[in-house]
Amino acid sequence: MALLVQKYGGTSVGTTERIEAVAKKIKKFKDSGDDVVIVVSAMSGETNRLLSLSGSITEEPAGRELDVLLSTGEQVTIALLSMALNKISCPSKSYTGGQVRIQTDSAHTKARIVDIDTQKLQLDLASGFVVVVAGFQGVDIDGNLTTLGRGGSDTTAVALAAVLEAEECQIYTDVDGVYTTDPRVVDSARRMDEVTFEEMIEMASLGSKVLQIRAVEFAAKYNVPLRVLSSFKDGPGTLITIDRGNEMERVAFNRDEAKSTVVGVPDIPEIAS
Ligand code: ADP
Ligand code: ASP
Ligand code: MG
Repeated sequence: MALLVQKYGGTSVGTTERIEAVAKKIKKFKDSGDDVVIVVSAMSGETNRLLSLSGSITEEPAGRELDVLLSTGEQVTIALLSMALNKISCPSKSYTGGQVRIQTDSAHTKARIVDIDTQKLQLDLASGFVVVVAGFQGVDIDGNLTTLGRGGSDTTAVALAAVLEAEECQIYTDVDGVYTTDPRVVDSARRMDEVTFEEMIEMASLGSKVLQIRAVEFAAKYNVPLRVLSSFKDGPGTLITIDRGNEMERVAFNRDEAKSTVVGVPDIPEIAS
């Protein structure tokens, strides 16, 4: 019997049908004897929708208020997923970051986790519940809601796996692993069975968003076994390891960057510049 922390991203919980499909998948793990702690993102598009609501009121919202707004996205998903689990006789309890007490610093919209109280989670796991925790959020020392930056649910999952000493932190997403480059952009991208933490950190820092960079750094620091898998189809995914994998060419892809070449410019200092 293993303790697994599983994170399901926005697309994986993007509709109530998908939430119900995720619930069935979780129940299979629970029925096979594993203890499971689930971390979920907001339903896909929801965080952007909330940001645009705030943008229609002010271009400079206070970070504190933005965090109160953005953390609602994940709160919706935890409740719906717990309902879906309870409906299929898989007893479940949901927690916001503040209810667990995922304590962060006070850097609104980019807070860092400083401490996690595992007491309630441990008690619930011992009583047979599947625990569903809202990703991307916490509270500071004064009880203000905070968020961890875009993609921050990955970091919530890794941090929980570290403190609970989980056997594996599994990041379920809309691709079946980590590829040599973004498979949605480059058809010839290849899935890798394993990639090292160092290589993953480099890919994330160059723009690959499959894992939030902080999550990879956190996993490397606390030696958390981390795996990226598909929510939609079975497969081994990609294990992020501390060992050196095979040397392969890996290219991170940033959709916000382009390269253009200007030709025929005379090589004379002012004209060239
Ligand atoms: P989630 O909502 O599950 O957190 P994300 O959209 O944050 O998912 O991350 C998954 C996406 O990351 C994929 O749909 C893919 O387009 C993109 N991606 C970028 N680089 C890579 C890569 N090297 N390998 C796999 N996916 C990548
Ligand atoms: N909902 C947040 C975002 O869209 C956090 C996450 O999905 O990890 O960035
Ligand atoms: Mg993500």
